[in-house]
Amino acid sequence: MRTDRFVSETELIKQRAIASDLALEIRPRGLRFFVETFGCQMNVRDSETVKGWLAEIGYTEAENKESADFILFNTCCVRDHAEKRLMGNIGALKDRKDADPGVIIGICGCMMQQEGMAKKLLKRFPHVSMIFGTNVLYRFPEMLRDVLNGERIAVTDRADDAIAEGLPKLRDNQRSAFVNIMYGCDNYCSYCIVPYVRGHERSRKPEDIRSEMVALAENGITEITLLGQNVNSYGNDGSTGMHFAQLLRYVSDVPGLKRIRFMSSHPKDLNEDVMQAIASLPNVCHHVHLPVQSGNDEILRRMNRKYTREHYCSIISRLRELVPDIEFTTDIIVGFPGETDEAFRDTMSLVEEIGYAAAFTFAYSPRQGTVAARMEDQVPESVKKERLKALNELQTRKTVENNEKYIGHTGEVLVEGFDERGEETMLYGKYQNFKMVYFPGCRELLNRYVTVKVTQSNKNSLLGEMIDA
Ligand code: SF4
Repeated sequence: MRTDRFVSETELIKQRAIASDLALEIRPRGLRFFVETFGCQMNVRDSETVKGWLAEIGYTEAENKESADFILFNTCCVRDHAEKRLMGNIGALKDRKDADPGVIIGICGCMMQQEGMAKKLLKRFPHVSMIFGTNVLYRFPEMLRDVLNGERIAVTDRADDAIAEGLPKLRDNQRSAFVNIMYGCDNYCSYCIVPYVRGHERSRKPEDIRSEMVALAENGITEITLLGQNVNSYGNDGSTGMHFAQLLRYVSDVPGLKRIRFMSSHPKDLNEDVMQAIASLPNVCHHVHLPVQSGNDEILRRMNRKYTREHYCSIISRLRELVPDIEFTTDIIVGFPGETDEAFRDTMSLVEEIGYAAAFTFAYSPRQGTVAARMEDQVPESVKKERLKALNELQTRKTVENNEKYIGHTGEVLVEGFDERGEETMLYGKYQNFKMVYFPGCRELLNRYVTVKVTQSNKNSLLGEMIDA
């Protein structure tokens, strides 16, 4: 097992040397890659690293799978059906491989770290030649070299989870970026597979995080989301000399950085110091994604969430007191084993009471290997479905109510994209507190900050007009 916290510089130099050797062979051949990413922002960020390596190795990005010589699926195992979907995607590429044996098909991501998965896929899909997990991205050049030499590989070492700094990245987005501050999770919520597949918590050094942010800001990025499974426990192992609130203060003055976001937060670790940092640092956004999962204390206990409804609500009230325009979003699971009608009603009353801007709602589905999957009192699918429907109806009503508050509101929006609607170009973007607004404008404003006044609200979004570009 690797005992050092960081991948050595010698190792990285070795990988970079392999990458440049491969580039001599790959670049003249004009080969192209396509990476398809499933799941959360962590996976999006990991895909940027793989794409960065591929670019360094001489590949260029293809628009679709059909025109790519290297096809990679970056998988997620958190949600149900992901495996079925992946199997479908991989199966569909068999004919392509038969017609063009030179094409390389690979699979990576946290699903590959599930017990026995890599072996199963290699056996079932002979046209797949490369499988790797989340902790070995730094070894990508070496792995690809072996595959180009005709090997079929599966590298999913769980123990090999040291932090690798300075890996290449290829980012699509010119205005916003994700920056990992930590990896893994130590919480072992009873329904969640992440700690088993992404390993224990490891925090990056503050100075490495800051220099990555400085480099991004120098390249025009103005909005950065700090990522971790539980950002509030950053540095809790004492390895960084800073906790999360201190880190926020340490990076908040990066020149050119207008917005700092973070996700996800665990309610048990969101303390007064973090709340004060959110309230006092001008570029820390007034939005917290605070997964509650259930409004019932017994279910929270069975989920191993380590907080009560009362504690959760006290965080919300305190933050609202300190930061009046703050918005909250959340994740909720319905139909967790043992959830009675009464327990579900507690979740409904919590959603009614808090008034989230948005909620990501899920019917519980067992993940193999977790404690909850072995619980006896599983809730019937039909009940889960009914509860999910009721919860979604309630949240839709709460979103409408939340949107209505914004009529007449004026603030700065970062333009993220546009839709052509007949003659008109509708731009969309977010206020700093994560509220999305649509407004007429021209595409040249993409990635810029403009001032928008909300004129109308509807079910899912706000409509406005630009006051100042
Ligand atoms: S905090 Fe809980 S839900 Fe989130 S990744 Fe860790 S174990 Fe999973």
